Amino acid sequence: MGQWPALSEIAFKVQSGQLKAVDLVDKSLQAIADKQDYQAIISIIPDRARQRASQVDEKVKKAVQVGPLAGIPFIAKDNFLTFGGETTAASNILRGFKAPYQATAIEKLEEAGAICVAKANLDAFAHGSSTENSDWFVTKNPHDKTRVPGGSSGGSAAAVILGLAPFALGTDTGGSIRLPASFCGAVGLKPTYGLVSRSGVVAMASSTDVIGPLTKTVEDAALVLEVMSGQDQLDSTMIERDNNSYTDLDTKIKGKKIGVVKEYMSDGLEPGVRIQIESAIEKLKNAGAQVTEVSMPSLPLALAAYYIVSPAEVSSNLARYDGQRYGHSSKKAVDLDQSYELSREEGFGLEAKRRIMIGTHVLSSGYYDAYYKKAQTVRTMIINEFNQAFASYDFLVGPTAPMVAFKIGERTDDPLKMYLTDIITVAANMAGNPAISVPAGKSQGLPVGLQLIASQRADRALLGIAKGFEELA
Ligand code: GLN
Repeated sequence: MGQWPALSEIAFKVQSGQLKAVDLVDKSLQAIADKQDYQAIISIIPDRARQRASQVDEKVKKAVQVGPLAGIPFIAKDNFLTFGGETTAASNILRGFKAPYQATAIEKLEEAGAICVAKANLDAFAHGSSTENSDWFVTKNPHDKTRVPGGSSGGSAAAVILGLAPFALGTDTGGSIRLPASFCGAVGLKPTYGLVSRSGVVAMASSTDVIGPLTKTVEDAALVLEVMSGQDQLDSTMIERDNNSYTDLDTKIKGKKIGVVKEYMSDGLEPGVRIQIESAIEKLKNAGAQVTEVSMPSLPLALAAYYIVSPAEVSSNLARYDGQRYGHSSKKAVDLDQSYELSREEGFGLEAKRRIMIGTHVLSSGYYDAYYKKAQTVRTMIINEFNQAFASYDFLVGPTAPMVAFKIGERTDDPLKMYLTDIITVAANMAGNPAISVPAGKSQGLPVGLQLIASQRADRALLGIAKGFEELA
């Protein structure tokens, strides 16, 4: 599969004139064209990308410092607002939408010299675990075309593993960066809630939405976080970032206290996944970590609570797509020879409708106490259990998902079965903690992901241990 050097090496070579940004952009666009059959990409941004690349090359000629991501092409999930093309969130209701401003994360990456070349496929509005809820097409797993890449950032994860660009961006509301990272064999980082500005990213569930990188290595993820994190007046939910660089990593494993989450190692794990995770834990032990089992009894409730809280917020966030200001059907516009606005009925897919209905129901008077309030109580219990665990442990560990990538179509006719895919990832979102999925061997020839979770704001420490683990493999 496609190869790119480390991000820092590419940037160094661009800055020193050994590589040209225009050639890197062309290489990325060529790879996208060559690997079209995987359907990872919704749209490309060739003109703007080439233009920005020549600006980078011009600066280099004049010996101007470009930035830590000089000339590096990247791919953004199509729920990031970007210039140079459409932003659709893979939903029909946003077909034809041209963003009037860019996401802060994109702006920060561009300031550092990176170049957005394309927009990746996702489950429409990031509702899903497989990209099968995309109104466009299903992305194929790079390791087996008959299987899903995971979701909702499935296009981004597949793009990185196929080598379409050196890194990609995803969003993680309930696992959407970590799950596809696990299924595709990528590194997927969900930073602490509030560390990266969400301005200009299509909102799913605002109390858990975060932005993060999908990369080949932990070091690359750290560099992208370093560039994207930090204050932004356009997002009022932000926290202070670490004063030290996120690339300054302590990879030492010896002496680190690691808790193996008992509830994550339950009977529901596929045997092949269990073998890889147990062997990963063994490696951490052999490297000198103090590993013990920890029980967090509320975790089995996290999925149910998430599938109440998140649809509640989805139903509110999707209210802005009123069928008047967004969305038009180009087909009908041609037929009618005029602009035609899509109604909510026409524009939303089945999953968005399902979530709007569940969300509206759990917030409605008479049901609010029974569902929404109860789910928020469970959420507090989960937060307390994480805080308690991190009083004794530096990191928590377990699988990212109970299974490897499943077959396309295997779970689509049963929404609950699809939701169960997220059983391990959602708790970190409910609590706002940083979590990362790193490749940990294979089962049935398909990648398995190890999930490491840290306390809030310990993103740098988390990246450190993840890199330490990567070095053991
Ligand atoms: N799969 C989860 C869901 O469908 C998470 C989605 C996400 O993180 N965007 O809600």
